[in-house]
This record gives sequence, structure tokens and C-alpha cells, in this order.
Amino acid sequence: MNCNIVKDLIPLYIDGCCSEESEKVVEEHIGDCDDCKRLLEDMKSSSDIITVSESPKTFSKLNDWKASVLQSVLLFLSFALITIGVALEARTQSGIGNGFWALNLVIPATGFMLSLANWYFIRVYKNRKSFSLFSLIATLGITLCAYIWSGFHYELNVFELFSECDFIELLDVMQGILFLNGLGIVLTIVFCTLSKILSNQYAKMLGKE
Ligand SMILES: [Zn+2]
Repeated sequence: MNCNIVKDLIPLYIDGCCSEESEKVVEEHIGDCDDCKRLLEDMKSSSDIITVSESPKTFSKLNDWKASVLQSVLLFLSFALITIGVALEARTQSGIGNGFWALNLVIPATGFMLSLANWYFIRVYKNRKSFSLFSLIATLGITLCAYIWSGFHYELNVFELFSECDFIELLDVMQGILFLNGLGIVLTIVFCTLSKILSNQYAKMLGKE
């Protein structure tokens, strides 16, 4: 058998793409021909390197894609919650219920959505742990700022509320706050927890240590 024909067949042989007959021809030939045997071994080892170096690339690309999907889905969901909250708030008549949905849904969802902006700056963080911790702090910080702003907006004077009242009255005030804002407090805790867990997951997908 001609060496040149075998050399043409070797790449197909390595990829396992040639017929059984050709396979036999190649195997028989390299039994006798050292040149072709060496060529086969060289090509085999270089094709191994290519496979090894290509697979993590594909893997990381897939994970980059997953990370982007996660971020987009979260942006969309938190925006949807804000929209629902605004719609519900617009339906409430002025009175004691005014501001209920703003405090209990719009503010926590806004805190979470705005904290997602931090995810664009993941490169700045040294490691996954610091990124995840800062995401939690950002969510909590933005939410608290929004609550303070809402206190001014609804002209709620917390100091007046708490001063000049005895213990029993204080309990009443606390109960009132829980009644008016309990859902918002729960949601804030949920969003802060989600922020920590999901940002960690996001960083993992992007291969952050
Ligand atoms: Zn040969």
C-alpha cells in the first residue's frame, strides 16, 4: 500500500470516520511502516491536545450564557413585581391602605432590582465571597434608603411615633408597623437572601474563584 494513501486516511482513522476496510488497511500498513506509524502517533497526540483545550472553552461559553440568562430573568422578574406593585398601589383609594403596596412590594423589589446593577461590576471583586456579600449589602442598603425616603414621602415621623409613649403603647406602634409593613419586611429578608445565594451562583458560572 502506498504511504501517501495511508497518510490521507490517517486523519479519518483518528476521528473514527473511515470504513472498517480502510481501518484494516491503515492498521496493516503501520505494522510494517515506521514512518506512517510515527505520523499516526503524532497526529493522535496533537488531536488529544486540541480536544482537551477546546472543551473548557465550550464549557465556559455555555456557563457565560447561563449567567446572562440568570441575570436577565432576575431583572425581568423584579421589574414585573414592581409593575404589579405600582398597579395595585394605583388601585388603592386614599386612606389607611394608601402606600401599602408601595411599602410592601415596590420598595423591596426595587431594592433587589437596583442591586443587580452591581452584577455588571463582578470583575472589580477579588473573589466570589466578597462579591456575594456586597450584593447582599447593596440589596439591603438600597431597600433601607428607599424606606427612609418613603418615610419622608408619607410624612411619617418615627421619632414622634416612639417618643412620649410607654411600653404598652410602644408595642402597639410596633404591631402597627408589622401590620402595615410586615410583608415588606419578609420580602426584604427574602430578597437579601436570594441576592446572596444567586450572586454567588452567578459568580460561580463566570468561573470566579
Ligand atoms: Zn507508510
